Order: sequence, then C-alpha cells, then structure tokens
Amino acid sequence: MSMIEFHDVNKYFGKFHALKNINLTVDRGEVVTIIGPSGSGKSTLLRCINGLERITSGQLIVNDFDLADKKTDMNRIRKNVGMVFQHFNLYANKNVLQNVTLGPDLVLKRNKQEVEQEAHDLLKMVGLENKADSFPGELSGGQQQRVAIARSLAMKPKAILFDEPTSALDPEMIGDVLDVMQKIAEQGMTMVVVTHEMGFARHVGNRIVFMDDGQILVDSANVDQFFDDPQEPRAKEFLSKII
Ligand code: ADP
Ligand code: MG
Repeated sequence: MSMIEFHDVNKYFGKFHALKNINLTVDRGEVVTIIGPSGSGKSTLLRCINGLERITSGQLIVNDFDLADKKTDMNRIRKNVGMVFQHFNLYANKNVLQNVTLGPDLVLKRNKQEVEQEAHDLLKMVGLENKADSFPGELSGGQQQRVAIARSLAMKPKAILFDEPTSALDPEMIGDVLDVMQKIAEQGMTMVVVTHEMGFARHVGNRIVFMDDGQILVDSANVDQFFDDPQEPRAKEFLSKII
C-alpha cells in the first residue's frame, strides 16, 4: 500500500545531524506537501528518497526496496522515482522533444517511435505541444519547468519528488506549473512536494508535513486546520512570517 516509508531515519553530514529520527509514510497516490524554514532538511529528505543521498541509520523503504540494503540497485530506484528541481536542468543543446525522449531512449532502451508519440502526448498535457522543436533557451522559465515535468513523466515513474519547483519562476509563470502539477496529482501520481505555495499545499495536498531543524514537527492530514489554526508553536511562527 505505501510507496515510501521512513522508520527512525537519521542522516549525518560528517558531524552535522541533518535528519533527526524521521518517521514518515507516503501511500500510493498520495500528495504530501513539505514546508519549513530554509536549512530544515527538506531537500535532504527528498534526496534520500531517490538515493541521491544515503541515510546514516534507520530504515527507508521505497517502492518495496530497502534503500539501506547495499544490494538495492540505486539506478533502479532513480528510474522509479522522478525528481523535479528548482532549476530545471534541461539539456540546452537539445530541443524540447529530445529532452523528453532522451531518458526513455537511453535509460529504458524503448522503441523510439513509441517514445516520441508518448512525448508528444506529454507535451500536450503540459500545454507545450507546439514547442517540440524549440530549444530550452527559447522558452520562459515556466515553460522550461513544464518540459522538465514532462521529461520526468516520460520515465513512467512510480512517484515524483518536487523540490521547490516554482521558486525560481517569475510570479506570472507559477500558476501554469502548479496547474500541471495538480493535473498529475489528479491522475493518481504519488507526489512529495517541497514548496512555498501554500495554495497548492492547501488545495492539492492530501497531507502537510512541517520540518524544522532536521525534524518533522507536524504531519497532518487535516490541512485546512493546519493553516487556519496551527497548534505547533514553530509552525505557527513560520506561517505567520510567510502568509
Ligand atoms: P532545506 O532544503 O530545508 O533548505 P537542506 O536539506 O538543503 O535544507 O539542508 C539541511 C542542512 O543540511 C543545512 O544545514 C545544509 O547546510 C546541510 N547540508 C545539506 N547538504 C549537505 C552536504 N552535502 N554536506 C554538508 N551539509 C549539507
Ligand atoms: Mg532545499
């Protein structure tokens, strides 16, 4: 049933304790939003889920694989778990279509024609069907981020992690990206989203997680109540600063 399970997970960078006794379960099809101050460990938590960082202790299960087990194939985890970053990291010298088809072509070694057809469908889904031949430099930030999302979906991931996907965008670009993310959520994708977009957290997220100082201080399915009447003192203080 669950897609991601943290059991008493700790992560150290040298002596620095970046994740402290994390317990978190994300069910299949669930959208969990993570908020919290800068430096609280949000990116580190996401990076552990797709194996970009190794946990120091505890147990982390992703798609039924134990990430602490040395025998687990991290490449397989990364194929199953997509990641969308603040900076989209598209290939500047490849056009939009090539950016979307590259992973399935090279990594999944799938049929080229079939992959291209799917890429066109994905570009349509993110509202960029007429930009297939454009290069990233010719697109706005919001359009590039939507290409990055299509590229992630092209790998047919079991879950997608979003690390502040709209933080680098001009305000007028943010809505289009959030709309695409909402569409993907409605199609049943398992998503973990680190964001400052409280509207998205409130209206699309099924659960809200508040992190501070490497710890999860709030994990609540009562998202409206969290925003309307936060009980946890540090969450209350954080919300008072950003809303
Ligand atoms: P957030 O995403 O919430 O802003 P991060 O997960 O990026 O926080 O970072 C949490 C803490 O871990 C920060 O103090 C950061 O400096 C530290 N940290 C993150 N990555 C590394 C690393 N590779 N080496 C050392 N410290 C790191
Ligand atoms: Mg971060």
